[in-house]
Amino acid sequence: MRFAEINCELQNLFMLIVMKARATDSDVERVVETIEKLGFTAHTISGASRTAIAVTGNSGSIDPTHFENLPNVAEAVRVTKPYKLVSKNLTLEKSVVKIGNAQIGGELAIIAGPCAIENAEQAFKVAETVARSGAKFFRGGAFKPRTSPYAFQGMGEDGLKILSEIREQFGLNIVTEAMDEGGVDLVERYGDCIQIGARNMQNFSLLKYVGQMRKPVLLKRGLSATLDELLLAAEYVMSEGNPDVILCERGIRTFSNHARNTLDLSIVPAIQNASHLPVIVDPSHGTGKNYMVSPLARAAVAVGANGLIVEVHAAPENALCDGAQALTPVQYLELVREVKAIYEALLPVEV
Ligand code: PEP
Ligand code: MN
Repeated sequence: MRFAEINCELQNLFMLIVMKARATDSDVERVVETIEKLGFTAHTISGASRTAIAVTGNSGSIDPTHFENLPNVAEAVRVTKPYKLVSKNLTLEKSVVKIGNAQIGGELAIIAGPCAIENAEQAFKVAETVARSGAKFFRGGAFKPRTSPYAFQGMGEDGLKILSEIREQFGLNIVTEAMDEGGVDLVERYGDCIQIGARNMQNFSLLKYVGQMRKPVLLKRGLSATLDELLLAAEYVMSEGNPDVILCERGIRTFSNHARNTLDLSIVPAIQNASHLPVIVDPSHGTGKNYMVSPLARAAVAVGANGLIVEVHAAPENALCDGAQALTPVQYLELVREVKAIYEALLPVEV
């Protein structure tokens, strides 16, 4: 079969398997059988010196490792990406995710608040600043994934009740982390957006669980996750029926030790090139240092992020969690002014 003949099936082309020049007919037959056993269709393309086999099908994705070790296979090349629902081809429009009475995508979203809800007074003080800044989202952890079991673990449901009061009083939409299924149920009840933390990005049962929820999911990039791994984590959520996923770059582990993590801003255009999902940046966990947060937040907006998630504390020196990276209210208000100016300067000019 010639390549042109499978042209009409190109939309469904998953993989090309190239045989070595010395491959026999039975080697080719073995590859074809393997493809068919997996439920796909094989199209043999005979060239002058080599044979290639195109793999097409109507659903799912196929793993090249099925073929790489078969006799006289030179290469198995994936043509389509392993993710479908997150991929850009699905829709030409960028997705806008509605959260409560606001949205992420289509405008600059700012999510701000303390790392953890420590008590009502602390949380309300920050919320007042966040509301005054014009931001529409309040963050604050009630369940905290801490490295040490002896560190403050969060207030649990009592923290969620404080967050709920903040929504009532200030009209802010609540973004808060869930670490397990029980936490998801509570965040679904009290919050507006379920945050899945970096350490849980590949907790597949949790991803499937939030995929069955109605509330949007803020999915943070794992500490060592590649672009494909992040997108496949989002695919887990979406494949369970929840289309409302926002991706978040929050820094990765590298050899650099001048900051808590290395904020990988190049993933923002890379995500936008591969997916229709909105992407925001967390310069707080991405740097871990107060003086780096504003510069990197400005850079994130300049690079095209749909929003920021930033930690703020009225008295960072007393914070129970992540005080070193918390902005003071004054620093935060200045940051909002700066990033709004950058965002507006970069809006496309109407012609
Ligand atoms: C957080 O946002 O408070 C948090 C724990 O973030 P991450 O999962 O990115 O470390
Ligand atoms: Mn934190």
